[in-house]
Amino acid sequence: MRDAISNMAGYVPGFQPPDGEQWIKLNTNENPYPPSPRVVEAIIQELGNGDSLRKYPDPPSQEARQAAAELYGFDPAWVIMANGSDELLNNLIRAFVGEGEELAFVQPSYSYYATLAAIQGATIRTFSLTQDWQLADFPERYDGKLFFLTSPNAPLGVSFSNNYIAGIAKRCAGVLVVDEAYADFAEENALELVRQHDNLIVTRTFSKSYSLAGMRLGLAIARPDVIAALDKIRDHYNIDRLAQTAATAALKDQAHFRETITRIKQTRSWFVAELERLNYTVLPSQGNYVFAIPPDRDGRRIYDALFDRKILVRFFSESFLAHGMRISIGTQAEMEATITALKEIG
Ligand code: PMP
Repeated sequence: MRDAISNMAGYVPGFQPPDGEQWIKLNTNENPYPPSPRVVEAIIQELGNGDSLRKYPDPPSQEARQAAAELYGFDPAWVIMANGSDELLNNLIRAFVGEGEELAFVQPSYSYYATLAAIQGATIRTFSLTQDWQLADFPERYDGKLFFLTSPNAPLGVSFSNNYIAGIAKRCAGVLVVDEAYADFAEENALELVRQHDNLIVTRTFSKSYSLAGMRLGLAIARPDVIAALDKIRDHYNIDRLAQTAATAALKDQAHFRETITRIKQTRSWFVAELERLNYTVLPSQGNYVFAIPPDRDGRRIYDALFDRKILVRFFSESFLAHGMRISIGTQAEMEATITALKEIG
C-alpha cells in the first residue's frame, strides 16, 4: 500500500441518523424541501419498467451539460457534469497537482480538500482569515498548483466579492478553484470571472440548492481545455441514467428552484434575528446555514444539549471553531423548534 494511504485518516462525513428516526437534521446543509416534482416525474419516466437500466448511460451526460450551459450562458464545451462536486474536487487535484506538489485552501473551509490532497500525496498550505474576512498573508504571487477558495465559506457562511476573487486569481500562478457549493444562496457568484481569468474554475453542487444530495450531482464551469482534461480523468460513466435525467429536469425548473431558495433565505433572516435576540453572535451568512456563537462561546455544550433534544447541528472541535457551531437552515417550523430548544437550554 502507498504510504500516503496508510498514513492518512479517512474523511468523516456528518452523522446521518438512521432513516425513520425523528430528528431535526441541521448538520449537513441538506435542503429541507423536496426537489422539483418535474425531477421526480423525469426519474419515474426514465425508469419505466426498468428496461432502460440494462444500458449504460450517456458518457458525457450531454443533455444535462446542454441544460446547464443554457442556464448559465456558456457554450457546452465550458461545462462538465459530475457525480457530486466532490468528484470534481478530486479530479481537479488529479489534473493539476502532482505528488509532492502544493495545493492550498482556507482554514476553516471544507475539510475534504485535505483528505484529497493526502490521497494524491500533495502538500498543503492553508490561509486563515482576517477579522474582516479576507485572506491573511496571501502572497503577491502564490506559486502552488491549485487553490480552493470556498465562497460562500463553509462553515462560516461569509463570502468573497467578485472584485476580491479577481484579485486573488491574478496572484495565483496555478489554478483558482472557486468552490461555489452554496453560491445559489448568495447575492453574487463568480461565473462571469471564468470568462475573464483563464486560471479560474467554478464548481457547483445539486446537493443543496436543488435538493438532490441523494442523487450525487455537481458541475464545473471552466475553459474548454480544462473541461477536456477533466473529461479524460472522470469515470467514463460517471453519472447514472436516473441522475442525468434528474439533473436536466432540475436545471429546467427554475421556478421551483427560485421558490425554494427564497423560502430558505427568508427563514435564514428570521433565524439569525432570533439568535441575535438570544445574544448569539452570528456571522453574516450567504449560505443555507449559519455559524452561530453562543454567549458563553461553548459550542460543544449547545451541540450536546440540542442532540439530547434530537436536534442535530454540526460541531467542529478545532480550536478556531469550537466556540460555535454550524446550523443548517431547515424549514421554518424546524428553525422555530430549534429556537425554542435554545431558549430552554439557555
Ligand atoms: N464543497 C463544499 C464547500 C461542501 O460543503 C460540499 C458538501 N459537503 C461539497 C463541496 C460537496 O458537495 P457534493 O459532493 O454533495 O456535491
